[in-house]
Amino acid sequence: MENNFIIIKVGVTNCYLLKSRPCNVLIDTGYKGKAKIILDFLENNGISPNSIGLIILTHAHYDHIGNALEIKKITGAKILLHKDDMPLLNSGITDSQSTKPLNIWGKILLSKISSIDTSFNSLKPDIIIESEFDLSGYGINGRIIHTPGHSKGSISVILESGDAFVGDLAMNGMPLRMGAGEPIFGDDIKEIYQSWKKLVENKANTLYPSHGNPFNIKLLKRKLLKKGYLHPYSDY
Ligand SMILES: [Zn+2]
Ligand SMILES: [Zn+2]
Repeated sequence: MENNFIIIKVGVTNCYLLKSRPCNVLIDTGYKGKAKIILDFLENNGISPNSIGLIILTHAHYDHIGNALEIKKITGAKILLHKDDMPLLNSGITDSQSTKPLNIWGKILLSKISSIDTSFNSLKPDIIIESEFDLSGYGINGRIIHTPGHSKGSISVILESGDAFVGDLAMNGMPLRMGAGEPIFGDDIKEIYQSWKKLVENKANTLYPSHGNPFNIKLLKRKLLKKGYLHPYSDY
C-alpha cells in the first residue's frame, strides 16, 4: 500500500485527497457553495467522483464541512466525524458560541467573521468515531486520532510515513498568523498543546494544516519544550 496525496485549495482552506485503492479519501470540503472547485479538480485530474469512498471531516467548522453534503450526494462517499463535534454540527453555524479567539489576531478576525455567513447545511455523518480509527480498510497506511483543543472533536489523520493532516490544530502563515503555531481560534489552548504532544508521540513528522503551508513538527516540539509539555531529555 503506497499512499500519495494531493492538496485541493478551496479558498483559504486546504482540503487533501489521499489517493489509494480500493478508494480515495477526501479530508475536509471547504466552505459552502464551493463544491464545484473540488468536483472540477477531480475532473481535471481524471479522478472519478465515484472513486471517493470516504470524507473525513477534521472538525465541524463551516470552512471545513460546507460542501460535505453535496460531495457526498455526487460521490456516494461516507462522511466521518468525531462524536464530540456533533453539538457543533447540530448547531448549524460557526459563531462565538462554537469557537473563541486565542490571541489578538483571533479577536480581530472573529469580529470580521461575524459579518460573513458561517451557517452550513445540517448533515448526518455515516461514521461517528469515539477514539482511534484505522484507515487500512480504505487502503490507507494510517489512522485517525483524536486531537481536541481547537474543537472538542477535532481529529488528525496520521500516515505511517509521518505525514499528518491536522485540520486547525495548528495553523501556518498569514492572514491567520505569522509562521506556524497555535490556531488563533479554539476551544482550549492547554488541550491544543496536549494534542500537539500526541502528534509527537504518534511519530508525526510533516504537518499539513488546513490553513497555510506544510511545516516540520520540530516547530511545535520547540514550543512544547519551552512550555514544559515535553522534557529536554525525553526521546522526542
Ligand atoms: Zn476550525
Ligand atoms: Zn478552519
